[in-house]
Amino acid sequence: MEKLKQLYEGKAKKVYATDDENFFIVEYKDDATAFNGEKRGTITGKGVVNNKMSNILFKMLEANGVKTHFVEELSDRETLVKAVKIIPLEIIIRNVAAGSFSKRYGVEEGRALKAPTLEFSLKDDALNDPLINNSHIIALDIASEAELKVISDMAFKINELLKNYFANIGVKLIDFKIEMGRDANNNIILADEISPDTCRFWDAKTNEKLDKDRFRRDLGNVEEAYQEMFKRVNK
Ligand code: UDP
Repeated sequence: MEKLKQLYEGKAKKVYATDDENFFIVEYKDDATAFNGEKRGTITGKGVVNNKMSNILFKMLEANGVKTHFVEELSDRETLVKAVKIIPLEIIIRNVAAGSFSKRYGVEEGRALKAPTLEFSLKDDALNDPLINNSHIIALDIASEAELKVISDMAFKINELLKNYFANIGVKLIDFKIEMGRDANNNIILADEISPDTCRFWDAKTNEKLDKDRFRRDLGNVEEAYQEMFKRVNK
């Protein structure tokens, strides 16, 4: 399929039209941002890791009955995906307290949660991605009640599959963010990416951070952490 005009450039990816309106090509960059774009940098090789890792994980999820936008990996940094309209929500699942959850509720990072939690943020940089609840989402016509049920059920199912998958490669899945979109038939499918940019990964034995927190918090060995995660996933 032919790569045509660029439709969108985000912080970490570009999206291109193709000669078929039902498909897009995404291209992953090495650019890294944190704190809503305040901190900027480059993580060499990140685009390749995030592209390939997302694709491996999306294939695993598909094999377990989760519908995703994944179609075909085209190159180290490019993937053909189904065209969707992204629902402007960051869907966040947590297994262990960390990051903004720890701050907001005064809970120490690393405390295992009694049950996985689900929260939504409105994807809007100008507003700093505010938390949003189910009744707000319905009232603002971002998603219907029935769609929210589908989104929540999918998110918890994805968590169970990912948690197990990472446990098998010696990684604790602390939390993650996913995005979903509506396809041509208005079915809700998993889109965007699943990578060290969008998940917190801690080594199961040492609790060493193997994700973007190394960049956000200036912990060093950022590239190495991305490569280590890719090595474990790509076996
Ligand atoms: N996350 C993300 N994009 C965002 C915000 C969060 O991918 O814009 C991911 C983040 O990597 C972590 C999870 O969602 O795995 C929960 O993040 P949190 O709400 O704790 O925010 P943070 O502490 O990163 O600001």
